[in-house]
Amino acid sequence: MKSVHIIIISALAAVFSSCEQSAPTPDNRPPGKVYTDPEEKQEYAVCFGNTHSHCRYSGDANQTEANTVERHFALARENGYDFYCVTDHSQYDTYSQDAWEHIAAAADECTTEKFVAIRGYEHSENNGPGAKGHQNVYNSDSYLNALAEGIDMTYFHNWLADPSNSGAVVSMNHPEKDQYDGFACYNESARNKVTMFEVINGKELYFDSFLIALGKGWKVSPIAGCDNHATNAISTWTPRTGLAVERLTREGIFDAMRNRRTYATFDPDLKLIYYVNNHVMGSAFNTSSEELRFEISVSDPDKSSADARIRRIEITGASGATVKAGEFSEHDVEWKVAIPASKGCYFLKIYNFTSSEPVAYAAPVWVL
Ligand SMILES: [Zn+2]
Ligand SMILES: [Zn+2]
Repeated sequence: MKSVHIIIISALAAVFSSCEQSAPTPDNRPPGKVYTDPEEKQEYAVCFGNTHSHCRYSGDANQTEANTVERHFALARENGYDFYCVTDHSQYDTYSQDAWEHIAAAADECTTEKFVAIRGYEHSENNGPGAKGHQNVYNSDSYLNALAEGIDMTYFHNWLADPSNSGAVVSMNHPEKDQYDGFACYNESARNKVTMFEVINGKELYFDSFLIALGKGWKVSPIAGCDNHATNAISTWTPRTGLAVERLTREGIFDAMRNRRTYATFDPDLKLIYYVNNHVMGSAFNTSSEELRFEISVSDPDKSSADARIRRIEITGASGATVKAGEFSEHDVEWKVAIPASKGCYFLKIYNFTSSEPVAYAAPVWVL
């Protein structure tokens, strides 16, 4: 694996901008107002990591001496990950406030200029009543035991919506099609905290569930979580979550997660970013333009592998139908293509020559 995974995606000239005023690209703009598109694209670096793992603080994880949080972070760093999240189940006797604090201290200790270690926890709602499902919580100041008396999904969403959790960001984990009682939302203020969706968990694909979640109004973007319960998969797992970050720091990672600048890839070094009318992937915006101008950059550094060449890119609607497709056979693809502006959700599927199935799924944009 390459030791340097960060590349700067150079900004393309803003040749498409027809607006006089540039506008920032805040997330979740309310509809009903027409915003100008930004004059220029903001630059980001792409980094690669794992959003989901368990050390021995999880009661169902490997309980050997070797399965420590420190070992997870050290192996991730050695194996070229740019970031790595330890997200233990909080409901076991093996978990405690001490564990919670120890993981944070270990994450601080293991973080360097080139590697960010992150503590989260997996909120595993297994007993309802009502909605069940697992969700990772990152950057919260405290944790819940999902199986404790009185803690159901309503409680969880209310907790997320509380101002004390303003920094928290959440993923939907290994979601089956009927998860979370049909992807219900119990507190609309919590909705924008849930920004990510494990389209890849381990090596399994949850794409059909992803479409259901989008259809239920969740603004979620694809990630890949290893969900390893021991350390051996750290060197052998090849999928990754790709993030477009302003900087490789913990806050930079959380900012990318919060604003859905994510993609899920089966290829560990496939670099990907795209913009629509200069709004970066993950954005929700409305536009006065009559076109949605996609500018898509995809590259794979494995130049010696013909199979690693990009074969096809699909712009996909929320229903899963292909809106536009392009065919290629290069390692580096810059594709500019426009479609008529229409409200809705659009995301990308990327194909190379290794499989008939997509190798990567990129964050949607939402045209409000
Ligand atoms: Zn789980
Ligand atoms: Zn898990």
